[in-house]
Amino acid sequence: MISIPITDNGVNRSSYQYLPPLDNPAASPNQSLLPLSAQVNDQDHLVVGGSDVVELVQRFGSPLYILDSETLETACRQYRQAFSQHYPGEALVLYASKAWSCLAVCALVAREGLGIDVVSGGELYTALQAGVSPEQIYFHGNNKSAEELRFAVETGCRIVVDNWLELETLAKLLETSDRRVPILLRLTPGIECHTHEYIRTGHLDSKFGFDPDRVESVFAFISKHPVLDCIGIHAHIGSQIFELQPHNDLSDVMVQWFAKAASYGLSLRELDLGGGLGICYTEADDPPSITAWVKTLCQGVIEACRARQLPLPRLLCEPGRSLIGPACVTAYTVGSQKQVPGIRNYVSVDGGMSDNPRPITYQSVYRAIAASKMSAPLSETAAIAGKHCESGDIVINQAQLPPLEAGDVIVIPGTGAYNYSMASNYNRVPRPAAVLVNQGEAQLILQRETYQDLIRQDCLPEFLKQA
Ligand SMILES: *Cc1c(COP(=O)(O)O)cnc(C)c1O
Repeated sequence: MISIPITDNGVNRSSYQYLPPLDNPAASPNQSLLPLSAQVNDQDHLVVGGSDVVELVQRFGSPLYILDSETLETACRQYRQAFSQHYPGEALVLYASKAWSCLAVCALVAREGLGIDVVSGGELYTALQAGVSPEQIYFHGNNKSAEELRFAVETGCRIVVDNWLELETLAKLLETSDRRVPILLRLTPGIECHTHEYIRTGHLDSKFGFDPDRVESVFAFISKHPVLDCIGIHAHIGSQIFELQPHNDLSDVMVQWFAKAASYGLSLRELDLGGGLGICYTEADDPPSITAWVKTLCQGVIEACRARQLPLPRLLCEPGRSLIGPACVTAYTVGSQKQVPGIRNYVSVDGGMSDNPRPITYQSVYRAIAASKMSAPLSETAAIAGKHCESGDIVINQAQLPPLEAGDVIVIPGTGAYNYSMASNYNRVPRPAAVLVNQGEAQLILQRETYQDLIRQDCLPEFLKQA
């Protein structure tokens, strides 16, 4: 089906170069730019999950989030298989649902045997409504409200306690409640990793977690409050990480605390090492595979436990981006174009910072693929501009594209994580629809917002109503 000359002279290159390698079941989704099911059909259109992307846009509208279930399921299975291969103890993979929280995604990953990590009452509610069982849900956050804590206790999910206020609030809450919830403690391990400053969380100057020099007083507090059933500890050191060493170091730092906790009479059983594995946004990104990452975690924990003669804990991790990021492409329709001679060409699309705030927030770099002209040589360089009233609303600064016309469809790969979940209605632009595609079937999982949706929460005081 696919045969196209790909040369490096920059003239004959086409979007084909970004297709995942065919027939490679071992491919790690986070190392592929496009979803694993991506192909090209006879009309020279991109196909994802067996559906022609151009037809999907005709049917469901534009912009459109297209989520490939094969890629997401493969990522879930690779995480689970890597643990069963490399860890002799019990393990659980949690999906960090802040990456993309909605009913269908929570239900799909739960069906794959994953638990869910939530960071707000809203994400907890979504996971519960999707049918996820409370024991499989872990509740994070550095400023959970009293109401959120009460909600968590009522549902019986696990609570990852971040700070003293929360610990004390929870102790009081539990003293008057007949519910018992297991808790974990979030620790700041003091580990540096090379990633964007906003998404680094494990170094000491972080708003998250208990500092290492306070941990013993926390253990002491817990040992005096039997209502607090502390089952484990947790750390998350950052996101979009390409190195393995920080997670190896993390295993060792965290296992040390197991021994310390024992001296306060606490028998910790769970070790949750967070998420953070990176993905490919461009061909320049080179993350380790899911299997290599899990193996590093497992070996680190096994070695650290052996050195201290500790039993193996139940081992947890919480990938978000590497599970769902590579599974989605965002399709846009090309609109107006502008040439600024000698400076830059602009190709405008019908979305932008409202459906993908990452470029304007983190200066994230993406690739664009001409889904309606896959084999056309990439002879043009242009900025892909969003439709919002901000000069900074640029999806890609320098995209290599074929000549495009209004109505052409382009896709941006790698938009499954932190796109829909960070989407807004800036400029009162309705949020896009999302479809789940698999073997030629496309199921709507998020309806496109309507203008009525935009004013649903608006209130017009009586005195402002026009007669
Ligand atoms: C964001 C976050 C994750 C997921 O991070 P990824 O880089 O998307 O894998 C996991 N755990 C916690 C506590 C987080 O805040």
